Amino acid sequence: MAVERTLSIIKPDATRRNLTGKINAKFEDGGLRIVAQKRVQLSQAQAEQFYGVHRERPFFKDLVSFMISGPVVLQVLEGENAIARNREIMGATNPANAAEGTIRKEFAESIEANSVHGSDAPETAAQEIAFFFAGIELVG
Ligand code: ADP
Ligand code: MG
Repeated sequence: MAVERTLSIIKPDATRRNLTGKINAKFEDGGLRIVAQKRVQLSQAQAEQFYGVHRERPFFKDLVSFMISGPVVLQVLEGENAIARNREIMGATNPANAAEGTIRKEFAESIEANSVHGSDAPETAAQEIAFFFAGIELVG
């Protein structure tokens, strides 16, 4: 196992319901360290670029509208196997399929408004962290 970093986003459905602290407790209790964090309002262009891999999917337009419907919290999480570990803590994309105790099981409103984003591989984690954070913001 190696120490990794992954990009996490607390999505607008969760910031709207004041769930940032409860979600952060899930990460910290699950062995991840929040090494960078900022609350921002994404622009449409930023959301479209961030989710560019899903551009051809039928839900793309709705997903972008949702992601700019309110503030998000951008985070870098660090720990052993952080990319896979974070995805375990988040739970399945569709909350109906998410395991007990996961963030999406407890907090997600729907398959779209599912409270959190987490990178899915080392390459995407590095790209997504660099998309939102400057090196000077990552102090470990
Ligand atoms: P994950 O966030 O678990 O990595 P994906 O990368 O497949 O999932 O999808 C990105 C995001 O797009 C999801 O988190 C969710 O917000 C949204 N999404 C995925 N599938 C659907 C769907 N069938 N309908 C609506 N929104 C979806
Ligand atoms: Mg994904």
